[in-house]
Amino acid sequence: MSNVEADPVETRCRARAEHVEPRDPAVEIVTSREVPLGGPRAIQVRRTLPQRARSLIGAWCFADHYGPHDVRDGGGMVVPPHPHTGLQTVSWLFSGEIEHRDSSGAQALVMPGELNLMTGGYGICHSEVSTPATSVLHGVQLWVALPDSHRNADRDFQHHVPDVVHHDGADIRVFLGSLVGTSSPVHTFTPLLGAEITLKPDAIVELDVDPIFEHGVLVDQGPVSVSATSIAPAQIGYVGVGATCLRLANPTAEQARVVLLGGTPFEEDIVMWWNFVGRSHDEIVRFREAWQQESEQFGHVEGYVGDPMRLPAPPLPTVRLRPRRRPGR
Ligand code: MN
Repeated sequence: MSNVEADPVETRCRARAEHVEPRDPAVEIVTSREVPLGGPRAIQVRRTLPQRARSLIGAWCFADHYGPHDVRDGGGMVVPPHPHTGLQTVSWLFSGEIEHRDSSGAQALVMPGELNLMTGGYGICHSEVSTPATSVLHGVQLWVALPDSHRNADRDFQHHVPDVVHHDGADIRVFLGSLVGTSSPVHTFTPLLGAEITLKPDAIVELDVDPIFEHGVLVDQGPVSVSATSIAPAQIGYVGVGATCLRLANPTAEQARVVLLGGTPFEEDIVMWWNFVGRSHDEIVRFREAWQQESEQFGHVEGYVGDPMRLPAPPLPTVRLRPRRRPGR
């Protein structure tokens, strides 16, 4: 955690009569690691969540950032049908197109600037393939952990195209939750925020945020300063609960872009392994076995053409899976 601006500017978020922001909130830098997405011509993704130091931001429990990849040579994204439990997936693209099919019966073209939210509570499976029309693939794949009360939710798929809101030299698309006076109509099971923010060169953007939320600013094009801490592309600038304002600055002469994630701290311990979110090692073992046995728990993807027709689960680790706990607990 370090302020690397040569000449940091004091932040005073929108002055309220009785309230002056005491100081910039502390910003923790969450770095990414490169992970192959799988398949013979796998694309590399940059994974910031989960990791040892930080598993969750609100209920956001997984964040992959990928591209821009030129996929005209025949590569791209080919993810055969695979299962999920206890989570929702958010596909958000900056460029390219992905054909999504899932066992709720949904078939959708994932396009830039459009939210595609799949709910895989009790069990779902889906495939994701970039289309032949895609020349550059660039986006994020995010997962949301479902709270215990809804983690067996029915299969569901929702699509929403947020309006663009212009604010302080930024173009903002709020795909989940509320920000800058606009709200997404898409239902979530815990209080959540998700937004794409494009910053003009030299823009300084002040965002009033809910102090009961924690936030992560995932930088796509940057660097971008988050409350005076410089965050490089593929890193997340994390801000804990209590902040009432986030100040984003684009110090570059180019457009910058971030995805802002937020939510109330997720208070349940979860066990994540492969594509499953559960609550115990034994439950994960049951999920894995059910997928391997082609159980109806996950249903079937119609219309997927490829080899393999379903991704086999990897072997379980030899140690018992342990819950991911929040830092400081
Ligand atoms: Mn998936």
